[in-house]
Amino acid sequence: MRNPISNYSMVFNAAPYKLIEDSVKSITGETIPIKFYILPESFEKGAKLIEETKKYNAFYEKYIGPFPFRSEKLGIAETPHLGMEHSTMLAYGNKFQYNANGIDTLQLHEFGHEWWANLVTASDWRDFWIHEGFQSFMDTLYLEELKGKEAYLTAMKNRARGFKNKQPVAPREPKIAYQVYMSEPEYLNSDGDIYGKGAYFLHTLRYLIGDEKFFKALRHMAYPTKEMELLTDGRQTRLVNTDDFLTIAEADSGMKLDWLFEMYLRQPKLPKLVVAAPADCAVNCPLLLRWETPNNMPFPMPVDVEIDGKIQRVEMPDGKGTVTYSGRPPVVDPKGWVLKVQ
Ligand SMILES: [Zn+2]
Repeated sequence: MRNPISNYSMVFNAAPYKLIEDSVKSITGETIPIKFYILPESFEKGAKLIEETKKYNAFYEKYIGPFPFRSEKLGIAETPHLGMEHSTMLAYGNKFQYNANGIDTLQLHEFGHEWWANLVTASDWRDFWIHEGFQSFMDTLYLEELKGKEAYLTAMKNRARGFKNKQPVAPREPKIAYQVYMSEPEYLNSDGDIYGKGAYFLHTLRYLIGDEKFFKALRHMAYPTKEMELLTDGRQTRLVNTDDFLTIAEADSGMKLDWLFEMYLRQPKLPKLVVAAPADCAVNCPLLLRWETPNNMPFPMPVDVEIDGKIQRVEMPDGKGTVTYSGRPPVVDPKGWVLKVQ
């Protein structure tokens, strides 16, 4: 490596590899060398994965900026274990499997870590959701790119089922690896909330501030400036923490967002949306909405309400809102944008 390398993510692989070389053009116009070290028995399958990875590269470059290691290479080494985000030489052990949508989900995920882990690296394990949460969000966003918004929304909703909500996604005190990768006390056999809940937090932030500002903030988190997007000598990489993202998101949205970060990242419990509709009402009925929050934390989160097939956004500046309906009771947050108690 000529670029800085994350010290948690170095490895030595040895095998009778066969090398497939190729290249792909970056959005910067530069040529990125591709080197895939494939085991002889799967050599034939390597070329297809390269073509697939070129699509992933185009997707990441579109949303978060140029492939950070253009001055070196885009590479994988086939391994017996599933995968890991070693900079410019990902460990790849997914056996060239593609899901129903034609995606090699392992490769999509590990390759995205070239941005969320290797370009932008958490300065302490407490902030590792910046690697796994951001990347899990990208994994789901790729479905939107490929299949459209509904596919993205459905996949994101499915994520919400497994949250543990036992420790904060981004604790304030220093942590060691297993403490953030697993939800205490279930250290074994389960991913921590830094993956799915981190991704869902970004999904909710996207709803709150809107696509234009959200994707600007996402890109600024990867590359704070246009100048940094053009660097390839190592100065494009940097260490970050959760407050860096708060600063960026507030600057790009023009909104105060500390309450959002406090709720979803700094403490483990989810807010609950209490919905009250009058029992016998047919016309101009008031639907009362109220956020019930841990320790009465402020939570001025708007929410979508669907009335007669039309979705409207109800602002809740004091954590309360009212909307009037006639006939069938409205559906609250029909698309599942806001992370809350189910
Ligand atoms: Zn990962």
